[in-house]
Amino acid sequence: MAILTVLAKRSVSPDLEIAVSSRFWVVRVLVLTGAGVSAESGIPTFRGKDGYWRNLDPAKLATPEAFARDPQLVWDWYRERRQRIRNARPNAAHDAVARLAQRTDEFLLVTQNVDDLHARAGISAQRMVRIHGDIFVTRCSRCEFERHDYEHEHEHEDEHENEGVIPRCPECDAFMRPGVVWFGEQLSRNELERVEDFLDGGACDVVIVAGTTATFGYIIDWALRGSELIEVNPEETPLSRFATQQVREPAAIALPRIVDQLIASPSKL
Ligand SMILES: [Zn+2]
Repeated sequence: MAILTVLAKRSVSPDLEIAVSSRFWVVRVLVLTGAGVSAESGIPTFRGKDGYWRNLDPAKLATPEAFARDPQLVWDWYRERRQRIRNARPNAAHDAVARLAQRTDEFLLVTQNVDDLHARAGISAQRMVRIHGDIFVTRCSRCEFERHDYEHEHEHEDEHENEGVIPRCPECDAFMRPGVVWFGEQLSRNELERVEDFLDGGACDVVIVAGTTATFGYIIDWALRGSELIEVNPEETPLSRFATQQVREPAAIALPRIVDQLIASPSKL
């Protein structure tokens, strides 16, 4: 978690400064993001042919069953994905969300993305819930042990050196696995509570849902907890009929404009 902690510390003071200098409205904003937001940074989504890896469907690799059957194959895929994420950069959508966070008194980002691009764009760990986990965490498949692998493996060579190796837990010797929520697994109770705590604090003035097909019931449930619902997605989704504003564009195009409008006319909030 070291890198996230460092980012969090760094972004606390600018956040506060801006909040103090422009505190003329009080707003609660919830932003929900999914794979479509990171796609434009070159992180392939699980859907469509671009998501395939070695002719395998990632949706079938990201399961406890796949790991039980072939942990090495699953680790090869995650190592490649980690490497791709390290080489990627936050895009205009990540930057726009970070800008909105700075200008909003009460803000929470809930992302389904396991990459660290929102954090690198400047969202502090306190204002973000990574509901599907963190790809750079390696945790034990049996006990509670976990570590953050970003620092250990940031040299590209290390990733190749480790190819074919299934990490073992230093505490209990069981196989370690990526710290992400796989298909068919429960979400972390802790993270769910953080979202519910925020929502219990009052109705949101605006909820923005970007780059997710909203196939999970909890995304729809949270999206409906605001007076305004802005949906950003090139495609129609199950959420579209509830949206007060539908924006059929990629997130990196639409979000900077939407955030500019919200910041320029806070009365709209
Ligand atoms: Zn263990």
